[in-house]
Amino acid sequence: MGILFGPVKSRRLGLSLGLELVPKKICSMDCLYCEVGPTTLHTLQRAEYVKWSLIEKAIYEAREREERYDVLTFTGSGEPTLNINFEEAVNLAKRIVKKPLAVLTNSTLLEQESIREALSKVDLVLASLDSVREQSFKLVNRPVASLVLEKVIEGLKDLRREMRGELWLEVLLVEGFNDKEEDLKALKETIEKIKPHRVQLNTVVRPPAYAVAKPLSWEALCKVREFLGDGAEIITPKEQLAVVAEKKIQNIEESILDYLARRPAPVEELKTVFNKESNLEELLEKLVLQGRIKKHLYQGEIFYIS
Ligand code: SF4
Repeated sequence: MGILFGPVKSRRLGLSLGLELVPKKICSMDCLYCEVGPTTLHTLQRAEYVKWSLIEKAIYEAREREERYDVLTFTGSGEPTLNINFEEAVNLAKRIVKKPLAVLTNSTLLEQESIREALSKVDLVLASLDSVREQSFKLVNRPVASLVLEKVIEGLKDLRREMRGELWLEVLLVEGFNDKEEDLKALKETIEKIKPHRVQLNTVVRPPAYAVAKPLSWEALCKVREFLGDGAEIITPKEQLAVVAEKKIQNIEESILDYLARRPAPVEELKTVFNKESNLEELLEKLVLQGRIKKHLYQGEIFYIS
């Protein structure tokens, strides 16, 4: 199977030719929101997960195709720096490919000097850091047990000092997991120390590995952007989030209809059951107007019935 894919149109990078350094799904983390699916090999152990001969061939092919893309991106269906030949691959690409080189990484191996040294030569490092609080980090990213969050953060600071290219830090927020006030405060302080060139905010808009991962609303993302201040930008497309929000409402509607089919309920009870939905009254009124549920006054209290 080829390890080159694309070029694909990336909003952040332009036309990106991807090169996969690890197959599905080898990773040091098992993020709730991962769009590749649950991690099958959960490890910090580096190995030749893709053979060097294939990587070498792909980099030479990328050189042949230089007219057709803007940036060569080292990525993977997992963490690319886990490939033991990562440093070699960076060296070869920088030597023979004229187009800029970008690397996507989950930042977990940055304490290793040789990896940082290789990354310091690339044009753009897109590194992830979703939480700097141990508890939220473990809940969202589900790292291998031996991973130390402090070392990940130190690795990012060191890389920023050492690198010649740019460091863009991506923060993916999952509703109820890493978006609490204490998470954001701690994140802001750490970002100020890391000093990335850009901070990019994202949320769950593609089917996640675990259904429990839900997106933040557009409004909530905007508040986080304001809180983080200077330079933070939202990279989730607003339209995509609107589609996800619409699906979420449809799911809630179905759940309410299902609930009311079993028993009539007043609004307070429904609020307790579906407590995440702040505009529940509005939604119930819509269902009444659509004739899908009815209101029934019983002993001075309004019950919704199907
Ligand atoms: S670090 Fe990336 S590849 Fe690994 S589980 Fe998280 S999102 Fe998926």
